[in-house]
Amino acid sequence: VFVTGATIIHADLDAFYASVEQRDDPSLRRRPVIVGTGVVLSSSYEARACGVRTAMSAARARRLCPAAVVVAPRMSAYSEASRAVFAVFADTTPLVEGLSIDEAFLDVGGLRRTAGAPEEIAARLRRAVLDRVGLPITVGLARTKFLAKVASGVAKPDGLLVVPPGGELAFLHPLPVERLWGVGRVTAARLHDRGIVTVGDLAGVEVELLGTILGPGAGNHLHRLARGLDPRPVEPGHRRASVGAQHALAGRLRRDELDAILVGLVDRVTRRLRAAGRTGRTVTLRLRHADFSRATRSHSLARPTDATATVLVAARRLLAQAGPEIDRRGLTLVGVSVAGLGGADAVQLALPLDGHDPRALDAAVDGVRARFGTGALVRSLRSAAAEDRAVPHLPD
Ligand SMILES: [Mg+2]
Repeated sequence: VFVTGATIIHADLDAFYASVEQRDDPSLRRRPVIVGTGVVLSSSYEARACGVRTAMSAARARRLCPAAVVVAPRMSAYSEASRAVFAVFADTTPLVEGLSIDEAFLDVGGLRRTAGAPEEIAARLRRAVLDRVGLPITVGLARTKFLAKVASGVAKPDGLLVVPPGGELAFLHPLPVERLWGVGRVTAARLHDRGIVTVGDLAGVEVELLGTILGPGAGNHLHRLARGLDPRPVEPGHRRASVGAQHALAGRLRRDELDAILVGLVDRVTRRLRAAGRTGRTVTLRLRHADFSRATRSHSLARPTDATATVLVAARRLLAQAGPEIDRRGLTLVGVSVAGLGGADAVQLALPLDGHDPRALDAAVDGVRARFGTGALVRSLRSAAAEDRAVPHLPD
């Protein structure tokens, strides 16, 4: 068997927004800090010690932690910090896959001769983020993305954890099942009901039985993760030419239902753009009709964007233009993609400076969802019909 070393890093800033606040205002350091005046977008570890959690109402958080300082979010400061951290990532390796505003996978294999062993690179990365950006970051290092992410979750805050090759199951099996990608509250409760508490318990259950508890898809997924199997490579965003999502349709939809599905698709696509630090200019609507014919309509924007509202306006216009054809031939699939991709920097000149930046809302929504799943915040335009499949629960 060919055994490769641990070369995949998961790097994740600790309590990102709250850490930026503590960095910029020394009076907040070592104190409980809550970011968000209505809902908690982020909280310092000092606030978490009182039970404060992301997405909780700020009122409840204040009751739990009366000593906490509550500050309004400063999205431009967080965007700036994120850009600086991703610049450190890019200086470390060309193979960076951004997951959200504050975390990424880095493949540091093949750098041994020029940059040293992965363990050294990981330690240096943490120092560089602290020196150059002034923020604490936790790093997990393992042979797979999944294990690297679990490792950083275990090492938080301000830690470094290496899962040595061959030691994967010894690391994984004592952990609670909640550590696994895709295990939220509901799944965890179902597993606990069956006496399945640790990842090791999970690994010992037949895949067929897991399928009956959780459904075949999720059962299969967790069965593989519990055995440490995850062959996905790190995928740098710049290899991708477009970002898209599609939705198969059954039966005839009302206009408002179709619009809700479109909103969901645009939301998903633009969220992925922002997570990857990308922007795009060409919005394409793809349709498949009931007679299996296909149609594609595109619109090029004046400037690149990653804003949900901007892409949605274009996609709605394209859908309206296709209306007569949809009425005649029916619709069995709708897809939205954004192409002509550039870096997020391309959008900066178009940013309004009045503090009503729609991208700030997008970034805030992305931040909450990254921690609590897609269902945590539902844009007012969306209906239940357009709900995304829940994204994996990601402890921060
Ligand atoms: Mg984080």
